Amino acid sequence: MERNYATQMDAARRGIVTPELKKVAEKEYMAVEDLMPLVASGKVAIPANKLHTCIDPEGIGSMLRTKINVNLGVSKDCKDYDVEMQKVLSAVNMGAEAIMDLSSHGNTQPFRRKLTSECPAMIGTVPVYDSVIHYQRDLDTLTAKDFIDVIRLHAEDGVDFVTLHCGITRKTIDQIRKHKRKMNIVSRGGSLVFAWMCMTGEENPFYEYYDEILDICREYDVTISLGDACRPGCLADATDVCQIEELVRLGELTKRAWEKDVQVMVEGPGHVPMDQIAANMKVQQTICMGAPFYVLGPLVTDIAPGYDHITAAIGGAIAAMNGAAFLCYVTPAEHLALPNLDDVKQGIIASKIAAHAADIAKGVPHARDIDDKMGDARRVLDWEAQWDCALDPETAKAIRADRSPEQEDTCSMCGKFCAVRSMNKALNGEHIDIL
Ligand code: SF4
Repeated sequence: MERNYATQMDAARRGIVTPELKKVAEKEYMAVEDLMPLVASGKVAIPANKLHTCIDPEGIGSMLRTKINVNLGVSKDCKDYDVEMQKVLSAVNMGAEAIMDLSSHGNTQPFRRKLTSECPAMIGTVPVYDSVIHYQRDLDTLTAKDFIDVIRLHAEDGVDFVTLHCGITRKTIDQIRKHKRKMNIVSRGGSLVFAWMCMTGEENPFYEYYDEILDICREYDVTISLGDACRPGCLADATDVCQIEELVRLGELTKRAWEKDVQVMVEGPGHVPMDQIAANMKVQQTICMGAPFYVLGPLVTDIAPGYDHITAAIGGAIAAMNGAAFLCYVTPAEHLALPNLDDVKQGIIASKIAAHAADIAKGVPHARDIDDKMGDARRVLDWEAQWDCALDPETAKAIRADRSPEQEDTCSMCGKFCAVRSMNKALNGEHIDIL
């Protein structure tokens, strides 16, 4: 059926109930009439390219269930697309709501198209990565038009959201030099845009031609994820002038997108000490007028390579509890290598724990139901029911099977000293045999 609206935001502003809005309202236990004004005002985004017809739509907003994104894609050193597709399937099975294809090698289009024709999760990309490999030319030979044509290509391929580093300008070059950050720019896309500006002497094309980009996004209903090129890459750079100055510009760009009914998310830090996370969320929400905040971590310490899924989950939980809507997963391979299948699993589980813990704290409707079921299952030592509630039942089952208890209904932690068993027996007036 022909659509009579441009974007989800346009439809919500005109009172049109789209199939995606209806589905998201159901999933969030919300009335359509309550969700619609949130989409109309930009506080909730429903990234759903009109050409991604197999999408199972999700809403992203701080008042909704916290969503997670999984970054995948090949690099020159690890270029097996079959392995990447396996990671996609396992990510979707484990409950990832979004997949970002960050491929940076070879012909990226077939994989991107496969994702948008087969994968029900939201699909995101970073077109600036693809620009270099799409044209097979060095960065400084690319023109502003080349970059914009790649955005159009991704929109035509059905991508739901694109990260665009529109918030840095030539002024940022002076700032980075003047403020002497410890880690300079650690955003891959941000560093490419920065390098392009330095080499060509021109303004950031994603900033200069923003209106043209908005027209493309409006045509296909592509949500812009405003990239944070200056996100801190270590605790020492957190909440500094470069980060905040870019955030102010992202606020202005959010407003310009909304004027054309283009949906927006704003990307955030990075590496941030725990005591600064809540303030970062508050500042973003104020400057960007409640646009959904998509955080990359934040990692709360710099010294745990191999365990950054944990440093990010701690920061992600605090961020989501204080207003972040969307968490980008971090794997144990962060800062070290392209994640393998097991790294992806570890990253997803850590991120799901952070998102779920925050949803409980925020009082998201029905978020705690599953925890209450787990409490009931544990009280009656019903192990099968416990697996049904577990985020990762395979791992839980394997641990129990590996160290089976002498007393069947307990576990080998306390055996016959099992507090649960003793209490059940005591409250039933039964004899408690321990020796
Ligand atoms: S044996 Fe100890 S750890 Fe295991 S279920 Fe009973 S109380 Fe819990």
